[in-house]
Amino acid sequence: MRILVTGGAGFIGSHLCERLVSEGNEVLCLDNFFTGRRENIFHLLDNPRFELLRHDVTEPILLEVDQIYNLACPASPVHYQYNPVKTVKTSVMGAINMLGLAKRVRARILQASTSEVYGDPLVHPQTEDYWGNVNPIGLRSCYDEGKRLAETLMTDYHRQNKVDIRIARIFNTYGPRMLENDGRVVSNFIVQALRGQPLTLYGEGQQTRSFCYVDDLLEGLIRLMNTENQHDPVNLGNPGEFTIRQLAEEVIKTCESKSSFTYMPLPADDPRQRKPDITRAQTVLGWNPTIPLREGLKKTVEDFKTRVSV
Ligand code: NAD
Ligand code: UDP
Repeated sequence: MRILVTGGAGFIGSHLCERLVSEGNEVLCLDNFFTGRRENIFHLLDNPRFELLRHDVTEPILLEVDQIYNLACPASPVHYQYNPVKTVKTSVMGAINMLGLAKRVRARILQASTSEVYGDPLVHPQTEDYWGNVNPIGLRSCYDEGKRLAETLMTDYHRQNKVDIRIARIFNTYGPRMLENDGRVVSNFIVQALRGQPLTLYGEGQQTRSFCYVDDLLEGLIRLMNTENQHDPVNLGNPGEFTIRQLAEEVIKTCESKSSFTYMPLPADDPRQRKPDITRAQTVLGWNPTIPLREGLKKTVEDFKTRVSV
């Protein structure tokens, strides 16, 4: 198949391109390199089944493809808050442009949505039928509301134009190739632990997250894309729930580090708890994450050791 991956030079996108190429597909990787890096896809560049397009999803593009994974969008709060207006444009205009393309060439399209559509959730764990608790005017809104509108657009293009859509609500994902300076918790903690610096716990470190290793996520995304008639959103995440303090302890152990902790103010609208209910993914996709946090952290730390100067 000819498959377009937008955001293909980013963390998740580059792993996805690699896997799709290895399965014999022809892959078009589209990226504007805001948070993506050439290094992430360097090893694919001379593969005849891989093509790189420097392009911004906020601009229309004419291509012929069978499937589209729409991943283009900065995912770390530091990066998506750097230029919030651009973040909204990327989610909204990006979705419109990719849906227009999908409609024209009758491609199936999967939107990378997020657990952030649940905001600071009042239902725990989060099921897909929960509508969320999102601040429309806060610092995280450009990302959260942008993704919510992308879901709306997907659903309306499906209802109105019969576009064959898939919506993946991705929960916190980690693994090799995360940017060492992107401000997300797993990358921050690993870099700090490797350098022997104190780990920065925001608030009391009692907020919870569920961390999914990138290979597990890819399996879920590919299964979702290739399952017939699954037009409703599907949560993809690892239901193992950890406090940020527990994550910090686990990272220190994995890095065999002597780092201590330091406490910093909790960012505005930081969700207090998050854990996916993955019943739908289990039932419809037969999908279950298989890599526990400890094992995934080991693989991630190995990758960071080759990149981080200590
Ligand atoms: P990332 O920042 O590493 O990758 C995003 C990619 O999109 C980068 O390569 C970036 O350069 C590219 N991009 C950004 N704006 C663009 C634009 N206007 N035009 C073209 N390319 C653009 O982030 P990631 O962690 O790989 O996330 C990939 C997708 O998955 C995002 O849509 C994100 O919202 C979603 N997601 C990720 C997580 C996670 O924990 N990593 C959780 C939920 C959802
Ligand atoms: N966090 C932290 N220290 C850091 C970076 C993040 O305690 O150095 C916390 C952050 O406040 C949040 C959690 O870790 O509660 C996850 O943050 P991240 O930015 O990785 O993702 P998100 O908030 O989008 O889930």
